[in-house]
Amino acid sequence: MRTICVVLVLLAASAGLLGQGAAQAAQAYTASRHAALIQEYDEFLSLPNVAAAPTGLRANAEYLVGELRKRGAEARLLTAPGLAASVPPVVFGEIMTPGATRTIVFYAHYDGQPVTASEWATGKPFTPVVKDVDGEPRVYARGAGDDKAAIFAQLTALRALESAHVGLKANVRFVWEGEEEAGSAHLEQILMANRELIRGDVWLVCDGPVDQTRQQTLLFGARGDAHVQITVYGPDRSLHSGHYGNWAPNPAMMLVQLLAGMKDADGRVLIPHFYDGVAPLSAREKQALATAPVNDDLLRKQLALGHTDGGGRHLLELLNEPSLNINGISSGQTGARSTNSIPPTAMVNLDLRLVVGVDGATQQQRVIEYVRSQGYFVTSAEPTREELLGHAKVARIVTDAAENASRTPMDLPIAADVIRAVESARGKVILLPTSGGTVPLDAMERAAETRTISVPIANHDDNQHAANENLRLQNLWDGVETMAALIAMQ
Ligand SMILES: [Zn+2]
Repeated sequence: MRTICVVLVLLAASAGLLGQGAAQAAQAYTASRHAALIQEYDEFLSLPNVAAAPTGLRANAEYLVGELRKRGAEARLLTAPGLAASVPPVVFGEIMTPGATRTIVFYAHYDGQPVTASEWATGKPFTPVVKDVDGEPRVYARGAGDDKAAIFAQLTALRALESAHVGLKANVRFVWEGEEEAGSAHLEQILMANRELIRGDVWLVCDGPVDQTRQQTLLFGARGDAHVQITVYGPDRSLHSGHYGNWAPNPAMMLVQLLAGMKDADGRVLIPHFYDGVAPLSAREKQALATAPVNDDLLRKQLALGHTDGGGRHLLELLNEPSLNINGISSGQTGARSTNSIPPTAMVNLDLRLVVGVDGATQQQRVIEYVRSQGYFVTSAEPTREELLGHAKVARIVTDAAENASRTPMDLPIAADVIRAVESARGKVILLPTSGGTVPLDAMERAAETRTISVPIANHDDNQHAANENLRLQNLWDGVETMAALIAMQ
């Protein structure tokens, strides 16, 4: 018995020396307080946070400033000169540590997607309820998974570290955005106006779900995104298909022929130079991908897919390449509204996901050049009658401002330390070079002159952005441990 005690003490001491004390402190803290913490989380989830309703967001922001102050952080709301008062502020918190050589910044967002109350099982998206799913409790409310979970985990981790007297080694900053679900329209502007405050050696972007296997995931980048809208033109009005078919060109047919040439049967994009410039994965990144779980068969069954694109390569690998997706096509009418006519126009919206080395404007230009190479006169404005009469084929192409991709090398010293801290809490973690989706990492990195690493904590099946959004509570408890380890890291 005595020997066991001594061994335990020694183990605990060595764990402390290795910096594993933080996660353990968090584990001990939450395990004895589940009910009280759920009640506290409910209070936060009860504050409506719909991105389009500034008053509700303001209440969330002020609540969070209060919570940060209760934990000894300097806290305030950040905005930018000239911004309307209705623009949701960034909640900023800071704990300076004497002698610290590093500053770690935690990003999360407190706004949520719009809600349609009638679609929720309870009819009340801002009245949290706990329900069991497969024998495990989950809390249901808008924002429960995306992204109040991360904020609440960080707040709880601060309390846990304080109560276990685990001191911080780095300066710690919190940047909690209120406009993420509305496209982060003013984030870069607010960050730029407060550059000194938001600088850090690394930004930990705490948003999104972990892997489908429920294993902790770290993502070192995100794909960018650019859009291209193409309209092609037939006759200037809808024509009788019997009287004019075989003579008047059909724009829907022209458009599908144009699009069909953009990809081969395996989904490989055929537009010239589409893959030019792609920054190759490093040996470390390739190794991480090779050991990441491949969930393709499971996903294929869940999604009822008889085949997948990519010539047999798996999903995680394909996410490291640029993509071209048809978001939607429209021309004429279908179903019961179908008429025997030649429609005047056909339109498609293309979504181009970007990777490091492929600039959004360049990629949009490659698509435009391809359309030209197929004999189209291209204009960005509504074509005039002269233009329509003067060219065999006319396409109007509209592009938007692209968000470029970003990727932090996994072998940077700070990255290695982040991996070590998270593994001290969660054991072996899944490392991915990029997320498939787009997060404004590029804007954060520009403003804060830093690198980003994404640390999600929510369950993948949390219905984020939909009705009945939820958080599996075990993900919250695990998340508190992860955040504690990161807050207390060197
Ligand atoms: Zn989110």
